[in-house]
Amino acid sequence: MPPPEAVRRAIHEARRWVFSSSPPAKAGLPAAARWLGRAGSRLFAFLLPDDCRLCGRPLEGFSVVPVCGSCLAAPEPFAPEYACLRCRTPFLNPRPLNEEGLCRLCAAGVTAFGGAWSCGVYDGRLRELIHLFKYGRMMPLGRVLGRMMARAYPRDQQFDALVPVPSHWRRRFWRGFDQAELLARELSRRTGIPVRRLLRRRRHTRAQAGLSRRERRQNIRGCFEAARPGEVRGLRLLLIDDVLTTGATANAAAAALREAGAAHVGVFTLARADRSAQALAGAPALPSPSEVSAYEHEH
Ligand SMILES: [Zn+2]
Ligand SMILES: [Zn+2]
Repeated sequence: MPPPEAVRRAIHEARRWVFSSSPPAKAGLPAAARWLGRAGSRLFAFLLPDDCRLCGRPLEGFSVVPVCGSCLAAPEPFAPEYACLRCRTPFLNPRPLNEEGLCRLCAAGVTAFGGAWSCGVYDGRLRELIHLFKYGRMMPLGRVLGRMMARAYPRDQQFDALVPVPSHWRRRFWRGFDQAELLARELSRRTGIPVRRLLRRRRHTRAQAGLSRRERRQNIRGCFEAARPGEVRGLRLLLIDDVLTTGATANAAAAALREAGAAHVGVFTLARADRSAQALAGAPALPSPSEVSAYEHEH
């Protein structure tokens, strides 16, 4: 039975207090207080009913994540109409492809991965879920999103291991978890393919915002290296990440694995951010260039 309205409202206020804390305020808190805050929000999320963060409908019963069942239901699957002839990165329209059917990265001769798959477009519900997962630090959503990936997993392909694209330790520290690793673990549980942390970050990349495309690529290139180069040779590896935007990050990660001798590297993400497709469809909620830069920097 749902709690009476007054109780529900009090709970809602309390939750708002627990969950809301802007990043700058957080940055000033000592680690212990942050940990308590995180533990508190998890406890609240676990114990108290609330409104769905995505659609606002009151949640019935108790749930680990403040999102209702219909919002958690798998979003529309990504049905790409077009794909790059070389790296097979999917697109919703032919715009990102040149006359030879190559994406920008392949046309520039820099694609190190040999196939890209996604669950959906980085838009609408899926985008909100990813935001809640990463920026709302809603760790339990990793399971839901990982399950979604398991459904969209390219079963016709053969991979020896799942390799999460590592985020920088500073981001991992503030967020409290590594989103790609959580996704990879859940996917591994459901596919039986082991997770191997074969990549590491080389240095903290500069902020991507304000850089030209070429500067961005240079900024990203060389930011990964094989963590255990001796164990990579001959393997068919699948990179796991949350969003594929320009492909530059995935390309840098794949290049590091190929240099260490990987036989084949694919990329599997929750969502494909296809700005030109959204612009074409006239969708108002497309990520702005600065948002995309912020996203890439975020990694
Ligand atoms: Zn909902
Ligand atoms: Zn391509």
